[in-house]
Amino acid sequence: MSVPKTEKKAEPQFVEAVLPVPLRRSFTYAVPAELRGTIKLGARLKVPFGKRTMTGYAVKLHAELPADIEFDTSKIKNIIEVSDDEPLITPEILKLTQWTADYYASFWGEMLKASLPAGINTEKVRPKRRKAVRLVGVPAEGKALTEQQQKIIDLLEANGGEMLFTDVLEQADVGASPINTLAKRGVVEVYVDDVMRDPLAGAKLPVKDAFTLTDEQQAALDAITAALNGGEFHAFLLHGVTGSGKTEVYIRAMRYALDTGRSAMMLVPEIALTPVFSRRLRSVFGADVAILHSNLSPGERYDEWRRIRRGDARIAIGTRSAVFAPLENIGLVIVDEEHDPSYRQHESPFYNARDVAVMRAHLAGAVAVLGSATPAMESFYNAQTGKYTYLRLPDRIGGRGLAVAELIDMREVFKRFGKDVALSPELLDAIAETHKKGEQVMILLNRRGFSQFVLCRTCGETLKCPNCDITLTFHRGDNKLLCHYCNHREKSPKLCPHCESEYLYFVGEGTENIADQLTKKFPSMRIARVDRDTMAHKGEMEDVLLKFASGGLDMLVGTQMIAKGHDFPNVTLVGVISVDIGLGLPDLRSAERTFQLITQVAGRAGRGEQAGKVLIQTYYPEHYALRHAKEQDYEGFYAEEIRFRERLGYPPFFVLASILIKHRDHAYASKSANILRRAFDAANTARHCRVLGPAPASLSRLKNEFRLQIILKGVSRRSLRETLDIALADAEAHGCDLRTVNVEIDPVNLM
Ligand code: ADP
Ligand code: ZN
Ligand code: ZN
Repeated sequence: MSVPKTEKKAEPQFVEAVLPVPLRRSFTYAVPAELRGTIKLGARLKVPFGKRTMTGYAVKLHAELPADIEFDTSKIKNIIEVSDDEPLITPEILKLTQWTADYYASFWGEMLKASLPAGINTEKVRPKRRKAVRLVGVPAEGKALTEQQQKIIDLLEANGGEMLFTDVLEQADVGASPINTLAKRGVVEVYVDDVMRDPLAGAKLPVKDAFTLTDEQQAALDAITAALNGGEFHAFLLHGVTGSGKTEVYIRAMRYALDTGRSAMMLVPEIALTPVFSRRLRSVFGADVAILHSNLSPGERYDEWRRIRRGDARIAIGTRSAVFAPLENIGLVIVDEEHDPSYRQHESPFYNARDVAVMRAHLAGAVAVLGSATPAMESFYNAQTGKYTYLRLPDRIGGRGLAVAELIDMREVFKRFGKDVALSPELLDAIAETHKKGEQVMILLNRRGFSQFVLCRTCGETLKCPNCDITLTFHRGDNKLLCHYCNHREKSPKLCPHCESEYLYFVGEGTENIADQLTKKFPSMRIARVDRDTMAHKGEMEDVLLKFASGGLDMLVGTQMIAKGHDFPNVTLVGVISVDIGLGLPDLRSAERTFQLITQVAGRAGRGEQAGKVLIQTYYPEHYALRHAKEQDYEGFYAEEIRFRERLGYPPFFVLASILIKHRDHAYASKSANILRRAFDAANTARHCRVLGPAPASLSRLKNEFRLQIILKGVSRRSLRETLDIALADAEAHGCDLRTVNVEIDPVNLM
């Protein structure tokens, strides 16, 4: 390619862009003369990619074509358009996403796309603009004003000199032309105003509380503010039982960061960003806080994001992807309920927002605070080994005891009745008693829908999803069978599709069924169901939770959506039904999850004046996860679980990678998997890793694809990555189709 001699040297003629595609590389484009000098790093670019046009992100500018370019330079293509004058992506986020993509053996372009508000590249999400009018001058002498013109000026003066265009039309009862005439004469100005959509517009805000911190809270806060003063990276684990006042510590720490001129971020689990909590934050921080979660409309989310980008909001609160919020000069990064599985993004690009948050703090020289009543095994291990500073809030506020927990052995109940019952008499009695006292109840189970699955009594077949190796769940509300993995729906059959028998039997209970049974047993109680089916629409969850908080409901029946974070002082009974099913699954974290879930939901009971009680129905009363959950004994659980992890070579002792090979054609997937296995063996000569598989994944078929799995266990992150990178390249060279291969570092489930 020849470059014209007249070109200014300073303006780069080539730009390297990453694209949101599963490729671990960037692409170089030429910048046409008219666009030179307009590209800043982090700006979105429209570029040709194959036959398509895509949005990419500028990550590097080159004055000349890089020497190590891999393709025929005469074929280099021009970029089509520069989408942003001011890049949406800050230098810090550019670096963070690059680090994240690398850490998770993932793709930078996909990570960048995930860091921006959803829909932003499709132009469906736009700023909301409205026309407005303001007074800018006085009418020049000599020329008289018409009656209508005078009316407009009077109206504007009465309204502070500035109004929406449509309001002027309506209230002055005039057409557009007198306004335009005034504009021409320089008396008013017509302009377009950017209207910010506020997710909390019109919300009633709570009164600010003015607590004196307890000694333990104060000690924790002091440690955090001292680290903030230090101005260097520091990580804390704030381990506080449920109701110990962690939130208050977070709020004061954020206040301190703001007061000392820095910004702050707080991550919360998917559904813990309760309406109550958002309102509380708004009442404390006003317009300084921006809220980012998936229940906002795309427009609201975009506007909240823009307020952060402009520096108008200096505190960002949000779920997983908010870890990439474009805050500048960040001083404090908080991750509440840091153990929560919703921090894990379960599809490409994989990442765990908790770990990215710590890295963000690290890159920015900021302070990270991970908080939990039930810290993840890895985090507690980091605290024990000194990587994190350990802060403890051992007691509930106000000297309240933790709720008393009892296990109900469902094997006993089965013997008594000679059949399975979903609700034990012990639990039913306790509900009746609680209701009589005017107190509230929460019932937790882990299945939505009506029944768990449909079984034919004649031939013994279960009804399975045609796309997945998984049983369908019966939803009675619309008489449908639903696959909870791929969302396949079908009408519930009258006859068994295998043998045409009419003896179809619905086994197990979901939220819908339990809520039904409870409504029948307690007709005077006002009961609401909280799960993904009932909360499908924006605002529904909020309404139910606010209603429950204000006493308009007596009982909530729900999935783990109700387990976390909520603070309902009048809840004195929590019933736990069948959350221990996970203990039967081949998952390295099933004990940890079960322990966490029960401890968290138990933490919802007895937060007010009255003591709380937790009844846990279980088929595994001797299991250590249940025994320690009953005692709410974290240390006891940790001590047993960490031995199990060490014995089996699991995290935190080993680093895991799960390599999933997926394809519609089993033979094709199998071929790729076998090539990969050989490549791993070849790459692993130093024996720093253990390679397991390929074997069918425990979900061996999903969404019409066969799934094979190879597990890699590394003694260190570095050796794991080295082996992985070498093996992937080698496998590709030997004909393995990498498009069928999904790599997940630090997988949460081994399923
Ligand atoms: P956690 O986040 O640890 O579960 P919260 O921060 O929700 O606990 O605190 C539990 C309850 O105690 C809340 O109702 C909160 O308003 C209240 N609280 C927190 N700190 C104090 C304090 N120092 N004095 C009085 N009440 C407090
Ligand atoms: Zn049958
Ligand atoms: Zn399915």
